[in-house]
Amino acid sequence: AGATGGAPAKDQTRLRIEKMEAEREERRRIMQERKIERAEEEQRNIAAGNPGDVDFIGLVRKWRETHSDTAQSFSSSKQHPKICIAVRKRPVSEKERAKRDHDSVTCLHPTVWVHSAKLRVDGITKYLDHNSFRFDYSFDETSTTEDVYNYSAMPLIEFVCSGKGGRATVFAYGQTGSGKTFTMNGIQSMVAEDLFHLLSNDDYEYDDSKCTLDNTIVTVSFFEIYGGRIVDLLNNRERLKVLEDGKGEVVVSGLEEFESNDPAEFFALVDAGNKKRTTHSTEANDTSSRSHAICQILLRDKATSRLRGKLSLVDLAGSERGTDTKSHNRQRRTESSEINTSLLALKECIRALDSGKGGRHVPYRASKLTLILKDCFTSNLARTTMIATVSPGASSADHTLNTLRYTDRIKEKKVGDISKTKETRTRGSPPRQITRTKSSSPSPVRSEIDDTPKQSFLNDSVDFDDLDLLESDAEEDIKEEIKEEEKSEAAQLQRTIQDLFEEEEDLLNLHMSIIQENAELLTEEGRLLQSVQGDDVVDYDIDQYASRLGNILDRKTQLSTLLQNKLVSFRSQLKKEEELSKKIGNVPDF
Ligand code: ADP
Ligand code: MG
Repeated sequence: AGATGGAPAKDQTRLRIEKMEAEREERRRIMQERKIERAEEEQRNIAAGNPGDVDFIGLVRKWRETHSDTAQSFSSSKQHPKICIAVRKRPVSEKERAKRDHDSVTCLHPTVWVHSAKLRVDGITKYLDHNSFRFDYSFDETSTTEDVYNYSAMPLIEFVCSGKGGRATVFAYGQTGSGKTFTMNGIQSMVAEDLFHLLSNDDYEYDDSKCTLDNTIVTVSFFEIYGGRIVDLLNNRERLKVLEDGKGEVVVSGLEEFESNDPAEFFALVDAGNKKRTTHSTEANDTSSRSHAICQILLRDKATSRLRGKLSLVDLAGSERGTDTKSHNRQRRTESSEINTSLLALKECIRALDSGKGGRHVPYRASKLTLILKDCFTSNLARTTMIATVSPGASSADHTLNTLRYTDRIKEKKVGDISKTKETRTRGSPPRQITRTKSSSPSPVRSEIDDTPKQSFLNDSVDFDDLDLLESDAEEDIKEEIKEEEKSEAAQLQRTIQDLFEEEEDLLNLHMSIIQENAELLTEEGRLLQSVQGDDVVDYDIDQYASRLGNILDRKTQLSTLLQNKLVSFRSQLKKEEELSKKIGNVPDF
């Protein structure tokens, strides 16, 4: 039974099974081959020093093969922009190789691409997501510091040597380890060579108005801003104060300026400053990532000391620090908040340069960094170069994107896209028009004339109006919705931290002067006692002794109470900061 139709059905089933087996075999073979290919590719990658995810490396390689022709060649013929933004990608480091991190950044001048590895919903198929940004310059890992310098910083040297009082500033911005200091150190030595070359150049068309070694003295100052403190790197880390007088002139009081007459002298100074930075870093694990280092080169008239040009080279604190405001360590926390504020303020100040005369108010008072660099933002002879350094590794991609977004927002007029202005800028509170003290505008060199500023009202505190402005501007940049309440808490915290810095400074100063006075009192007490019980004392006035001792004791109590009160107020400020920072959920990001 069933013999008639059974056999072909069985055959068909058998055939189907055989076919399925064959297909399975073929799939296995292909997969095996692919596996071998992949292993071979991985070996080739490792041999070439790229041990990361072989699939992503392959995807990035393929992407580069089809896009490499989009890179434009560098040209320096166009006029150097008032604000120049350059991005530099450093090579993959040994550390990254050891972590099997793969290269995920491609610089095709003038564009920077960040490739993110993604998985499709099937959970197996891999693909890349790309983010791109366009800048004035985009330097890949094969570029030398000299390339970066030639296009982004060298034009500024001629600008400051023109003797018209130009203010040029070069910033290195980026995540810790991305190459800020590496780039800045290279630039420092190239500046040394080119500056003196230009100042002594015979071909240099003779022109009275230009700076030459005959009419100009080159001086260097080098200092660091670290947790709200300013220290002199060329003078034993002496603490300095920044003061703005009633006329709006900013002075870093106590800052040493050293003369240098040739590249070697110049370099010796800068080198000493750099060493002060790094030596200190090893003592207290990498403080350099938490500080802004500012190296200023001043060209002064030989006869009058009048400032004829200034070049500031600024190695900024690691940009990732700005987001590390939830730390349990108070010092880290307040430092991070300070860095956050100063980097936000910096962005706004540079941005204001672009809007030209009568444009937006420059919120330079929002941080010490921007206050010190005031003339670099307000002078009508200001030029700024921002070099954003990025790490290539996929594990740094978030920081890299943050760096590129930050830098991207600095310039309103995008490269090759003059017409498109950012519509978001009109949102939020309108820029406040604040009448600026006119004194510094007609003669931009005034703020640097070396006269003592002590006669007029001095103010070194951070300006709350400018902090407010920063906050309202920062709002536009925040992607996620932050509750109003939290926002005001964040603002409150920022203020508390500023107050904390001020109070700490006051407390330490008071303590210091009280120790001094106590020492003087102690000496006087010794003498007083000697005057009544010394070996050679015959006549003495015990009434006078008693009354003087009474005065001394009163004064000591007074001093002690003064310090006590200051300490109580400082400690309540500490507590306030701690409570506020615990309460805060979300901090403004870049
Ligand atoms: P940052 O100052 O941003 O923290 P560094 O300048 O200290 O970073 O750089 C971190 C490390 O990477 C250093 O060892 C430095 O020598 C190296 N490095 C940075 N940029 C480059 C580059 N373009 N080429 C080669 N090595 C680099
Ligand atoms: Mg550094």
